[in-house]
Amino acid sequence: MERKHNNQFTLQVIKMLEKYHKEILTCTGCAFCKKACQVYFHTRKEKDSPKGRIMISYGLLTGELKEDASIVESLQKCALCRLCESVCPSMIKITDIIRAARHDLKGMLPEHERILREIEAWDEPVEGEILLVMNSRNEIVDEIAKKLHATAWHGGCGAAIERMGRENKFAEKLIKKIKEAGIKQVIYYEPYCRKYFEDLNAVNIIDMIEDVEINGSYAVHIPYDFDDEFIEKVKSLFKGKDVMYIHECCGGRIEFREAFPEEAEKMANDVIQKSKGRKIITTSLECYEHLKKYGNVVDLLHIAKFKG
Ligand code: SF4
Ligand code: SF4
Repeated sequence: MERKHNNQFTLQVIKMLEKYHKEILTCTGCAFCKKACQVYFHTRKEKDSPKGRIMISYGLLTGELKEDASIVESLQKCALCRLCESVCPSMIKITDIIRAARHDLKGMLPEHERILREIEAWDEPVEGEILLVMNSRNEIVDEIAKKLHATAWHGGCGAAIERMGRENKFAEKLIKKIKEAGIKQVIYYEPYCRKYFEDLNAVNIIDMIEDVEINGSYAVHIPYDFDDEFIEKVKSLFKGKDVMYIHECCGGRIEFREAFPEEAEKMANDVIQKSKGRKIITTSLECYEHLKKYGNVVDLLHIAKFKG
């Protein structure tokens, strides 16, 4: 899908739903957003559409709706892909509203409770001079760490906690450990980690890639919610090469695929289909772990040649 507006990555601190009262009221109910939502495409239920989630948020805000299991499910059954925002004529920050509504929820899905427990229990030494922060236990993380003379941290930055609507205390603890260990540089990958590392000497691994080694036709999958700067940097690595781009959501975010495996599988197969037989290159290890179950997939890190 063509990108229609500057999709600057602003993973803000989640505010309460009240903050979005005026924004919610600007929704005209035109339903254009429904056409962009892959979750709605597969379930065909109004409550699973962006518009439906805005209406639910409005109901929660005014007190016309009371939280129950069905409301928790609807608000969580969103991949936060932001594709709906690309077509909303009123430019409503739909995912910010959904995030705020999630923040206000008292209940959690059982899968999310488990993910939260697992992330918060992650314990791995933080040591060395350079720390490679990845949210993956895939062997590629250790291979890249070796190449970059870094120590690997496989627990990620805990962004999933925030996406599920809870405070990311895991990131706070990680930053404390990084400071105490005297780490000189942090290397991260997923753009959403950046905000947690703003006070540290942190670099996105994309800036350390000199070139990519490919031979043939590829489809590069870049989640739509990634910031424009990251997307442009990825595209510059493939300049002049035989690639097409897929900006759709594969359903690979851990909290989405664990809670809604059926929809996540369908969304992954949509991406595979759109690649038209080309081998897929993902730009997120979360997407890689998900998509590789359904097709011929590598991650950008598998084919990267690093500077120096
Ligand atoms: S496209 Fe925007 S204005 Fe139209 S229903 Fe969806 S959120 Fe509301
Ligand atoms: S962010 Fe993606 S999954 Fe969520 S409502 Fe919008 S289009 Fe649907």
